Amino acid sequence: MSRDNLKYEPPILCISCGKPLSEIPDSENFEMVDSAVVGTLEAGYGSIHDGSTLQIGICDDCLGRHLTARRVKVVKSVFGN
Ligand SMILES: [Zn+2]
Repeated sequence: MSRDNLKYEPPILCISCGKPLSEIPDSENFEMVDSAVVGTLEAGYGSIHDGSTLQIGICDDCLGRHLTARRVKVVKSVFGN
């Protein structure tokens, strides 16, 4: 995921459960999301969506379940968790 040009474009729904995700009040962009993660995916060659930049979000509850089930992998963490 890239944070380049990330802009709050509501409504963003959790890709897993559909719950609406909300921006933390007074934040200037969608990097600061209440109990969720929002980011962008760059579709590359091989995908029928090649050339598209996609915005997706997932709530912390669903992300935790996907991490436990190893459907999502942490590739970097500045906090070491
Ligand atoms: Zn969810």
